[in-house]
Amino acid sequence: MAPWVDKLRTFPKERFLFGPSPVQRLPRLTAHLGGAQVWAKREDCNSGLAFGGNKVRKLEYVVADALLQDADTLVSIGGVQSNHTRAVTACAAATGLKAVTLQEAWVPYSPPLYDKTGNILLSRLMGGDVRLNSEGFHIGPKASLDVAIRELHEKGAKPYWIPAGASLHPLGALGFVDFVVELAEQETALGLFFDTIVVCSVTGSSHAGIVVGAVLEGKGRKIIGIDASGKPKNTKEQVTNIARNTLALLDPAASLPENAVVLDERFHAGIYGIPDEQTKAAMRLGAQLEAFITDPVYEGKSLAGLIHLVQSREISPTSKVLYVHLGGQPALNAYSDQF
Ligand SMILES: *Cc1c(COP(=O)(O)O)cnc(C)c1O
Repeated sequence: MAPWVDKLRTFPKERFLFGPSPVQRLPRLTAHLGGAQVWAKREDCNSGLAFGGNKVRKLEYVVADALLQDADTLVSIGGVQSNHTRAVTACAAATGLKAVTLQEAWVPYSPPLYDKTGNILLSRLMGGDVRLNSEGFHIGPKASLDVAIRELHEKGAKPYWIPAGASLHPLGALGFVDFVVELAEQETALGLFFDTIVVCSVTGSSHAGIVVGAVLEGKGRKIIGIDASGKPKNTKEQVTNIARNTLALLDPAASLPENAVVLDERFHAGIYGIPDEQTKAAMRLGAQLEAFITDPVYEGKSLAGLIHLVQSREISPTSKVLYVHLGGQPALNAYSDQF
C-alpha cells in the first residue's frame, strides 16, 4: 500500500456509505454522443442516509472528528434547497446528534413550495432545527452563524461547525481522496482505466479531493471540474487551496502540479442555482436515454459539460471518461416549474 493511502487510513472515519459506490456504463448515452466511452460513478446511490450524495462521503471524516470532540450538535449552512444541510441533518440523526442548519436565500428563485419541499422537507422530517435566513450567495463562512453558535453555547450545548459543503473544513476533502482509492480498486476488478474524470465543482472539496487522489496515485488522469457556482474565479481558487492543504495532510513532500486544477466555465448558466436551456437539455438527455436523473443546480450543469466535451471531441474518442454523479436529486421537486 502506498504511504499516502496508509496515512489516509489513520484518519478517524464514520461509516455512512453502503460500501464502494456503483460504477456503471452508460451505453445509450455513449452511442448517442459518438465519442469517448462514458461511464458514471454513482455517489447519488452511495448511502442509505436520506438519499446520500457527495456530502455524506465528506461527512464520514467530518462527523468522526465532531464525535471525537464530544460535540452534540452539528451546525451548518447552505441555500434553501441545500443538499449539504440535508446530509448534515441525516448524519446527525444517524449518529444520535442534533443538527442546526441555516438555510439562506442563495438563489434568487422562489417558486411555490421552494422552502417546503425537496431537501428542506427531508431535513424537517429528520428532526433538524432548520432556520430560514436571507443573505446573498457566497461560498465562504458567514457571520450569521456566530449568532446560532453563541446561542447553542449559552444553552450548554456543544456545537460543531461545518462550513458550506464541508469544503473549508480541514478534513473536508479526504472523502474524495478515498473516492479515488475506491475507484482504482474498481478499475482493477473491471480491467479498465478512466483517463478522464468529469466532476461538478462549487464549494470545491469534491473536485479537490479527486485532484489530490489523482496526483498522489500518479497515473496521469485528467480531472475536469465543471463550474456550477457561476463564480468560477472564486471556485478555482478555493479548489486549489483545498487541494494544497489536503495534499499536505497526506504527503508533506508532495506539491500540487501547475494545471492540476482544471475548471471549465462554460456550463454554469451564469448563476448558481438556476438552470438554462443547455442545463435542461442535458437533464432531459440523461433521463431519456438512461433514466439517469440529475438536478438543475449541480449535476445538470456538469452533465451538460460532459455532453459537450465528448460530443465536440475535446475529450478524445479513444478515452474512457468517468462522470461523477454527486447526487442532488432531492432538490428536483422544488424546481418543478422549470419542466
Ligand atoms: C454540493 C454538491 C456539488 C458540489 O460539490 P462541492 O464539493 O461543493 O464542490 C455537486 N453536486 C451536488 C449534487 C451537490 O450537492
